[in-house]
Amino acid sequence: VVETGTPDRAVVTTCAYCGVGCTFRAEMRGEELVRMVPWKEGKANRGHSCVKGRFAWGYAQHQDRILNPMIRASVTEPWREVSWEEAIAHTASEFRRIQAKYGTRAVGGITSSRCTNEETFLVQKLIRQGFGNNNVDTCARVCHSPTGYGLKTTFGTSAGTQDFDSVSQADVILVIGANPTDGHPVFASRMKRRLREGAKLIVIDPRRIDLVKSPHVGAEHHLPLRPGTNVAVLTAMAHVIVTERLYDEAFIRERCDWDEFQDWADFVSEPARSPEAVEPLTGLAPEDVRAAAQLYATGGNGAIYYGLGVTEHSQGSSTVMAIANLAMATGNIGREGVGVNPLRGQNNVQGACDMGSFPHELSGYRHVSDDGARAMFESAWGVKLDHEPGLRIPNMLDAATEGTFKGIFIQGEDILQSDPNTHHVAAGLEAMECVVVQDLFLNETANYAHVFLPGSTFLEKDGTFTNAERRIQRVRKVMSPLNGYADWEVVQLVANALGLDWSYTHPSQIMDEIAALTPTFAGVHYDRLEEEGSLQWPANEAAPDGTPTMHVDGFVRGKGKFVVTDYVPTDEKTGPRFPLLLTTGRILSHYNVGAQTRRTANTAWHPEDRLEIHPADAENRGIKDNDWICLRSRAGETTLRALITERVAPGVVYTTFHHPETQANVITTDYSDWATNCPEYKVTAVQVSLSNGP
Ligand code: SF4
Repeated sequence: VVETGTPDRAVVTTCAYCGVGCTFRAEMRGEELVRMVPWKEGKANRGHSCVKGRFAWGYAQHQDRILNPMIRASVTEPWREVSWEEAIAHTASEFRRIQAKYGTRAVGGITSSRCTNEETFLVQKLIRQGFGNNNVDTCARVCHSPTGYGLKTTFGTSAGTQDFDSVSQADVILVIGANPTDGHPVFASRMKRRLREGAKLIVIDPRRIDLVKSPHVGAEHHLPLRPGTNVAVLTAMAHVIVTERLYDEAFIRERCDWDEFQDWADFVSEPARSPEAVEPLTGLAPEDVRAAAQLYATGGNGAIYYGLGVTEHSQGSSTVMAIANLAMATGNIGREGVGVNPLRGQNNVQGACDMGSFPHELSGYRHVSDDGARAMFESAWGVKLDHEPGLRIPNMLDAATEGTFKGIFIQGEDILQSDPNTHHVAAGLEAMECVVVQDLFLNETANYAHVFLPGSTFLEKDGTFTNAERRIQRVRKVMSPLNGYADWEVVQLVANALGLDWSYTHPSQIMDEIAALTPTFAGVHYDRLEEEGSLQWPANEAAPDGTPTMHVDGFVRGKGKFVVTDYVPTDEKTGPRFPLLLTTGRILSHYNVGAQTRRTANTAWHPEDRLEIHPADAENRGIKDNDWICLRSRAGETTLRALITERVAPGVVYTTFHHPETQANVITTDYSDWATNCPEYKVTAVQVSLSNGP
């Protein structure tokens, strides 16, 4: 804990870690941050916080920060510090050289869910206006892209349906593929309060997460399914709801397409989809699945909260739609206490998606082939936009290894550590002629970079983040950028060096442009955010006060759409050589690849990633607690220590991915969601054996 001295001023700003979006008073003495105090007025946190937002900000002034731009002709050469002018000019001339030689579509970029809405908007604008293509993607590709696809298809919009307050009206809370206690602690506390008041809890997760056994709030039903069988379990629950006629016919007739419901009902009610029939796949006792389905359908307001255990599968989008089907079938949409709620991992993953960071969508989730939407941007930006979707991150890497994609601008994202199959990512980066990384630290991806542009922390800039409940909140500059520029200013420098004519002097002007071009943000302006603290989109003429609960009178798409989601087993199979299934996740004290939290005192609480293994599996292999083990998959191998625990079932092992030494993604495979290419991080067949250590 670093709390020093007496502050002389305070600035209210928003946490840069998870999608809860807690607000804090950053208390300052001169240019020194003294402490972060959770803000009582914050609508997302109401004065609460977790150990990350409260204490883990020391990385902002850590000695590892890179403060000067650097370039090098090849990745085998040492870095050379250069002026900002030289770095920006070199970046622009390299991108233009590549485009002249290999074509307009040979370059692209990646926006960051860690950066502000304004910054991600500018990066996708840089790609579309400056590069002239749609080769822009975001780190949501590897986490919640199936949420975007699934909820847009079924409900009409790519976002959660409720605000956090809604949980206080829930009677049954279904948590699937999420571990809120570790991943979203402040919201988890709110959920637990409701459980203490008597709401019932269903947990669907291969691990016995803390919520399952928490004192006074334990789960009524824990379904520890075999990893990779979400769709089979949810379809079996649907089977129970339909065959026992527990569905809400009045809601479905009024709000959904009845014919589509009937097709879906016919499908799920087939005997092959009963809890009994799928038991060999899921490993779940049929009576438990049946009881969970009955409770969700008949227990009053049913609210579903889910995380990456839903999306990071080869059937991620199908799982999201299977969840939406359950909510529509039971009428659990469109009022407080119900809904379908993705718990967003990163502070601004919702915002990055909203801002048009996808290769197929402009801001506000409008497809690039939509002539009307494109015309708005073309008239505002004075260019003709590409009407064909661009490349997703994995496609960019594939194209690089095939020789057709040659340059990339990566802002605030360490794809070498965070994306699956590290060897493939490295090969893609290695094949490019210009890799530009903008980040706080020389991350793993920077090992393959030719230009490094120093990034700025959330404490050094103005802007907004949008949290998991679609709440847009201000990020306020607490101190001057140590590197000289906020990230949005760096993007503007690159854009102008490419020949564009941007002249933003404050992020509020960028938000005004976003509002003018994005119908769901039409009513969002900084003066309103100052006055009201936050706004939940859609905030526009139709919803002047914003929208805490969506789909109240009708779905955004009109009628809610039931989608038949057939269970398709993943191609990643266990067998004699790789008999165990690995799944991955986070721990409370750390955040994603750990670039920030590993540079704070939080490291003491979790100094290394360990492999959770069931006592029976450990005994079979002669493994004792804390032994070094070798974890091997078809993609690669790594070494870490064992943690013997019954939190995981026999046949399943689990690790976190916060420390680069672990290289958890050396293990993960190339399999991905059929609709969005979100990687299948949650299911990898592995073998585990004793090792002598790294
Ligand atoms: Fe709140 Fe999440 Fe930040 Fe913790 S990490 S303080 S829960 S926003």
